[in-house]
Formats: sequence, structure tokens, C-alpha cells
Amino acid sequence: MIDLTKYNAVLEKNYIRKLGRVSQVVGLTVESIGPDVNIGQTCLIKANKYSDAVLSEVVGFKNNNILLMPLGDMSGIGPGNIIEAQEKPISIRVSERLLGRVLDGDVFAGEFVPGFDRSMVDGYAVRASDTFGCSDSIPAVLTLAGEVLMGQAARAALAPGTCVAVSTGGDLPEGADAVVMLEHIEDYKDGLIGIMSPAAPGNNIIFKGDDVSPGDKALTDGTVISPYDIGILSALGRSTINVRPRPVVGVISTGDELVSTTEIPGRGQIRDVNTPMLLALMEQFGAEAKNYGIVRDSESELTSAIALAGALCDVTLISGGSSAGTRDMTARVIGALGEILFHGIAMKPGKPTILGAIGSKPVFGLPGHPVAAWFVTELFVRPLIARLAGNVLKRRIVTARLSEAISSNHGRAEYIPVELSADNSGTPDREYISALPIKSKSGLISSLASADGYICIPRDVEGIARNMIVTVTLFT
Ligand code: AMP
Ligand code: MG
Repeated sequence: MIDLTKYNAVLEKNYIRKLGRVSQVVGLTVESIGPDVNIGQTCLIKANKYSDAVLSEVVGFKNNNILLMPLGDMSGIGPGNIIEAQEKPISIRVSERLLGRVLDGDVFAGEFVPGFDRSMVDGYAVRASDTFGCSDSIPAVLTLAGEVLMGQAARAALAPGTCVAVSTGGDLPEGADAVVMLEHIEDYKDGLIGIMSPAAPGNNIIFKGDDVSPGDKALTDGTVISPYDIGILSALGRSTINVRPRPVVGVISTGDELVSTTEIPGRGQIRDVNTPMLLALMEQFGAEAKNYGIVRDSESELTSAIALAGALCDVTLISGGSSAGTRDMTARVIGALGEILFHGIAMKPGKPTILGAIGSKPVFGLPGHPVAAWFVTELFVRPLIARLAGNVLKRRIVTARLSEAISSNHGRAEYIPVELSADNSGTPDREYISALPIKSKSGLISSLASADGYICIPRDVEGIARNMIVTVTLFT
């Protein structure tokens, strides 16, 4: 069962009240409250009105219900408390652009890798027993019986008392059971080779099937294909594999001040940063991104764009217009087309965030500030995309020493990009990494470009003193 204390931020009385009704009992452990929820129960919460603050990750989504989990901690999530985000995807076969795709089904080896015994060094293939007892002063003298050419099978079996020259990766002749490195031989140039160091059977050989043998599991179902996995598949002669379909994510930017990257902004105008950034993030997270362009702050234009994206995509992201101002229409439009599940998150940056549903599809209203949009996407959208893509999101963390004090007391969890560097104050056996907070207004995307990761100051903590050890989530 999930640790209850972690849920206080999510499900304390006030929040549940603000969230609205709790519709179903399935997932989380609740501390207290609610008309439909009792202490210690697990629940799936559904907010049916605008909420002020929900601090959690959206990890599942079905039938307009969201499963909220505390930020940063995905432990304790088991099959019992995960909502299946979609029907089990049908696998498709791909033979190109394997990178980043999610493998559907285990891949088993159909052959030996390597397919023959190979030398691991440049040297001479020998019968180990012919070298026993030799040394610098009393070399074993063997007759040179030729050379194994790269890419060719060794021509003949190795007779006792002989050796053959072999390069790294070359085929080992029958009868040879070790390779002596060039450094340990002397070529007498008269057809005889002196071995100065005894070899044991198996020395410097990679045997047939050492990497994989037929029937071995080479890759596991759900793997996000990395360059190394492509290497393994290539070694096995697999150029086509089954992968899961990618979720399709529609990206919309809204704001009268926005112009596209290719335009020169006039005074009062800015270039659209979020569309290209979000399209790239979606590709990085394993989704197929669709660009619905820049939409003016017009209810009718926004309605058409969101309705279109909502119909054609699995998830829709709209950045901008997500606050509560009169020019901010995103919430109104999502509410009219579907339903608002929550509006507002107790985090900084990122407060004006909306999660809604059109039909059974999630629609996020992201803050316009690019850094805020980035954090909300990383923290909330990414876990959902990972689930829709059929993989498990793994975040990597390191501990580091904070090199500057940070204050924070606004009742919201604060996310701060940090730059990591070697910390010379440690001793060689106890080195530290130091984390320098990058302070910036949330509009400046350059603060992310120079960061290696981010830290979080929880909402009820008033800051972190210099030299405190912090947990840094690395950008991946
Ligand atoms: P909004 O959420 O619409 O109030 O926007 C908040 C801030 O983010 C404003 O300064 C906007 O100009 C800016 N902003 C909104 N959308 C984008 C975008 N796509 N690219 C860059 N900045 C944006
Ligand atoms: Mg705006």
C-alpha cells in the first residue's frame, strides 16, 4: 500500500473540498475526509469544479477520471492502483527509426553471438598445453603455421607444436584453445615463434554464444529502444521489430502577441517558443506530435482548434491563456467542449495549469511562460505520455550540495533549475557535486538551457540553506 503521509499535500481536507466530489474509490490512500472517501481508503479522484491546488502527477486517465499521484514518487504504483490509460495497443512492425520506440514483446535471439570462437587480441592462437611452463628465459618454441585472415574461416586445424597468427576478432582454428598476445612472443623470423608467457585454456578468446545464444532473451518487452539496443538487434540480424504505436499529441499555442519562428516580431510581439519546444518534448517522450499552430485569443478560433485537436489526437496541449483573466479563454473553451477536472496547481512556476477532458481524452492547458510550460509538461504530461506509449518513466536523481541559499515561502512547491559541477571541497574519497540554483523569471527559457536538472522545495518549506544536500532530478 502507498505511504499515506505523502498524500497530505494532495488530499488534505481543503484540497478535496476544492477539488469537488470524489467519484470513485480505487487508487490512492487518503488521510481524511470527503463525502465519498474514508480514512485509509484508496480513491480515484475526480474534480468536477475548478480547484485551487492539486499537487500530484497525472498517471492515469480513463472515462474522465484522473489518477493523481504525489510528485516525484512513483514507488508503490502497482497494477491495482493504475488506471489503464487506453486499450492495450496493437503492435506495429517497423524497420526504420527504431530509436525511442517502445518494444512490444520480448526479443529472443535466434542465433549465437558471436557465431564462432574469436580472438580478443592481436596475437597467436595456440594449444595452451604447448605453452605450459614457458617463461622469458625458457620460451616455448612453436612452428608458425600461417595466419588467419579477417573475415575468413581458419583454414586448418591447429596441429600440436604449432601456432597461427590471428588478429582481434579473427576466427580461431580447431584445436586452438588460447591466444597469446603479441607482447608475449618473439618472432625468430625463421618460421618459429617463441612464447614467453604461458597461456591457460580460454585465454583471450570470446567463445561462440558468449554474448547471446539461441533462445536467450535479448531485449525485454516495454524497452524504450536506445542506440545500444539497436546494436543488439543488428548483431542478431533483426532489422524489423514490433513496437507499440505512439500516442498522438496535438500542440496549440494561443496569444495575440505570438508570431511564428520565421517572422520578425514587432513591438509588443514575441516569437512562439512553446510550440517548437512542446513538439520536440513530445517526440522526446515517445509521442507523435501534431502542430495546430498559433491561435489568437479568440473564443471561436480556440474552440475550433481545440475541438479539432481533441478529435484527432490522444492528448491535446494548449499553452497560454490558462490563467483566470478575461483574455484567458482556455479553461472556458475546454469547459464548453468537455469538462474541467482541475484548474490551478500549487507549484511555482506552473500555477495556471488546467486539466480537462473532451470525451475520454485528456486536454492540458499549460501556462504560457515557457519555463512554466516546460515544468508542467515534465511533471504532469510526461508520466501520462509514458503510460500511453506503454513504457515506464524512469527519472534519474543525484544528491548534491546546494551552493547558494534559496528562499521560498509562498505556499507553493517551487521547482528550480540547477547547474551541477564538481565540488572541490570534498576529500578524494568523499566527493560532492555542487548544485547552483539558476534564478530567473519564468519566462526566460535560457535558464533551462544551462541547467542539468531541477530541485523541488516543498510547499511548506521556507527555503534551503547553503550547503544543504539536495536531491536533483536530472534532465533526460
Ligand atoms: P498567458 O498564459 O497567455 O497569460 O501567457 C503568459 C506569458 O507567457 C505571457 O508573457 C505570454 O506572452 C507568454 N507566452 C504565452 N504563450 C507563449 C509562447 N507560445 N511562447 C512564448 N511565450 C509565450
Ligand atoms: Mg495569453
